Amino acid sequence: MTATEISPEQATREEALVASVPTDLLIGGRWVPSSSGERFAVEDPATGAVLTTVADATAADGAAALDAAAAAQEAWGRTAPRERAELLRRAFDAVIARTDDLALLMTLEMGKSVAEARGEVAYGAEFLRWSSEQAAHVAGRYLPAPDGKQRLLVVKKPVGPCLFITPWNFPLAMATRKIAPALAAGCTVVLKPAAETPLTALLFAQVLLDAGLPAGVLNVVPCTKAGEVTGPLIADPRLRKLSFTGSTPVGKQLLKQAAEGVLRTSMELGGNAPFLVFEDADVDAAVEGALLAKLRNGGEACTSANRFYVHASVAAEFSSKLAERVGAMKVSRGTEDGAQIGPIINEKGRAKIADLVDDAVSRGATVLTGGSRVDGPGYFFSPTVLGDVPLGSRLLKEEIFGPVAPVTTFETEDEAVALANDTEFGLISYAYTASTSRALRLAERLETGMLGINTGVISNPAAPFGGVKQSGLGREGGEEGIEEYLETLYVGIADPWA
Ligand code: NAP
Repeated sequence: MTATEISPEQATREEALVASVPTDLLIGGRWVPSSSGERFAVEDPATGAVLTTVADATAADGAAALDAAAAAQEAWGRTAPRERAELLRRAFDAVIARTDDLALLMTLEMGKSVAEARGEVAYGAEFLRWSSEQAAHVAGRYLPAPDGKQRLLVVKKPVGPCLFITPWNFPLAMATRKIAPALAAGCTVVLKPAAETPLTALLFAQVLLDAGLPAGVLNVVPCTKAGEVTGPLIADPRLRKLSFTGSTPVGKQLLKQAAEGVLRTSMELGGNAPFLVFEDADVDAAVEGALLAKLRNGGEACTSANRFYVHASVAAEFSSKLAERVGAMKVSRGTEDGAQIGPIINEKGRAKIADLVDDAVSRGATVLTGGSRVDGPGYFFSPTVLGDVPLGSRLLKEEIFGPVAPVTTFETEDEAVALANDTEFGLISYAYTASTSRALRLAERLETGMLGINTGVISNPAAPFGGVKQSGLGREGGEEGIEEYLETLYVGIADPWA
């Protein structure tokens, strides 16, 4: 059952926090209203109540934001790498110091539990620290040409002004994963956060300004008409990079727009992660991993395990243990003590989850726990495990984006690999097995950008995050992350001995 009763003390704390967040647009270092004067409402998905309103950027505001980013580019690109590193490190400390506020704000606008939101603050902040450590280590090279007649100088330069479009499911981390490496590389930024969750991005921008970020280096333009604001920016030759995290259909649309100006892009798109449990797996460990891979962020994650393929010999044990644990999870507003599963972001998302579950059940799947909407205010859906899910079911093809675990069985490794690869997506896969050789074979055979072996969470700022196939282009984090924001210049030099 959901519990959405809020104590007077909690309500006062929430109101004070929301009132302290800037709700205008950040353009050229100043907080300004929308040029249309319009504002839009931000809702708490646990109650449906309006938290506050935010300035609704227009195309003219987007253009002003790019003007500011373009004007700030040269000076920012020429700052000493150490200066950028130290700013990012101050920002890391400041974000950690504001953990309580950022976490509660994310819970209020997105719905995840405060405990999970605190985890996101820690994860999101790590990109600031990782990028601060990378900023002063960007290197080029100097070498003689093979015939000795020239010298070859290879230099890394910031790509230039970037446009970032981010989703609502990780309001802080999806922003820091782009902004931190871009700032480290010396790029300026226009950020368009998701309309459902602009507050976290706005508070984070204030934290960066307080840490000393110069005017114009980061500009933030929340809006309700995303295409109208970002379309002209993507067509503007001053923009040099588009990085998008969101759904595959929107990503494809943006790629088409970017093709016109041959704009550099990074795309972090949808997933359809398979979770494989082999006959030699430690089933209890697999259940623990499944809980994390499926229910982290309430299942609203691109890395969320979408399809459980379990060897027939252990499927009954795995499914019943998973259903017992999932059925015992506390579903409530994320601010409740012990909250585990918060609301779905909105009614549209919840309706899609309900449709997918109904489709699987109508084809013969068994509901082992959950399976329906939770009554009351907010957009809650009960955590669900489905057994014997037939292969044609829609939820094995489409991203569920909610707390639903469909279990299907397999007999052989070849069959498991074929099932796992039978999707246009390729973001992440998980496998539980006691065999190192099998784990390595899976790494070679699975069409995936990332693979978790005997673990349900692998996101790490020091590792390259990203997908293959229609899950995206490019990587965020790791050694690779900063490369997305660096251009390579080659200078040929006449033989200095000639
Ligand atoms: P979405 O609908 O694609 O929206 C993502 C962002 O794109 C939002 O800021 C949205 O703005 C904006 N947008 C929508 N239409 C646009 C257009 N025509 N032009 C420019 N911008 C546009 O995705 P979502 O529902 O927010 O997020 C869920 C999806 O993100 C899932 O598919 C998930 O797998 C994916 N995701 C991927 C990763 C990854 O790293 N691979 C990480 C997290 C999420 P509005 O808010 O105004 O609609």
